Amino acid sequence: MADLPGIVVTGASGRMGQMLVRTIGASDKARLVGCVERSGHAWVGRDIGECMGGAAVGVVVTDDPLEAFAKAQAVIDFTAPAATVEFAALAAQARAVHVIGTTGLEAAHLAKIEAAARHAVIVRAGNMSLGVNLLVRLTQKIAAALDEDWDVEIVEAHHRMKVDAPSGTALMLGQAAAEGRGVDLEAAMDSGRHGITGARKRGAIGFAAVRGGDIVGEHDVIFAADGERVILRHVATDRAIFARGALRAAIWGQGAKPGQYDMMDVLGL
Ligand code: NAP
Repeated sequence: MADLPGIVVTGASGRMGQMLVRTIGASDKARLVGCVERSGHAWVGRDIGECMGGAAVGVVVTDDPLEAFAKAQAVIDFTAPAATVEFAALAAQARAVHVIGTTGLEAAHLAKIEAAARHAVIVRAGNMSLGVNLLVRLTQKIAAALDEDWDVEIVEAHHRMKVDAPSGTALMLGQAAAEGRGVDLEAAMDSGRHGITGARKRGAIGFAAVRGGDIVGEHDVIFAADGERVILRHVATDRAIFARGALRAAIWGQGAKPGQYDMMDVLGL
């Protein structure tokens, strides 16, 4: 057991945090060595197993990330942008692989993550599932094969608690469509239409977001032409797919050189 990679989960009380704790606990390829929550959180100082309503597992939730990271080979982090930036510097200091699932990162956050990746392995993806990463590849290929007579629209749906839009996955799909077409996503993006918008711009890549209930994550990439449509769809029904992907990334990263990677690298796609 002791030679299995030790993993720390940040934001352990969150939706993804708890799923990660369960997934690592059930794995024979890694072991849980730490759980981090912010100072003042009710779970700090308590065993994570008991916090989640089960038996004690011998891992006490801490609010000291560096102390936890120092004992680990990898940190799996699905939290919030400001926390993730802080964790990237600390994980690099501890020479632990940092797997980042957090979305909504902006240019300033990404620059800090890039700096941390000079010293450590970082695997970052807006979606850690195998199915979505396949969809990204397909989107890129189809966009490359079709010209701008085919309008690209990305429609995503998530639960009511999601705080950012478009989703990280929708942006990955938009980026893939833009790369397939050989255009810049920033310039082509048309997101959140409202009011008298005028006719659709040729070559635009459109985004629309649905928020409601407990939807785990659904993404359609629509290629619409006169007289026909191609629709690629991914439906996630269980957060375990993201946790399994993140764990796979944490194990894969053990052999990698410092730098920033994504799930395409991990999955060899
Ligand atoms: P969530 O339930 O709100 O969980 C986030 C957790 O992070 C909470 O426990 C939160 O604690 C904690 N946190 C925030 N700041 C922290 C800090 N400074 N120190 C320690 N913990 C901190 O959200 P979620 O649904 O699990 O999603 C988390 C992130 O993962 C989002 O960005 C989401 O979009 C992303 N996500 C990515 C994928 C993927 O495959 N890449 C899949 C699903 C979700 P508090 O409650 O105290 O704030």
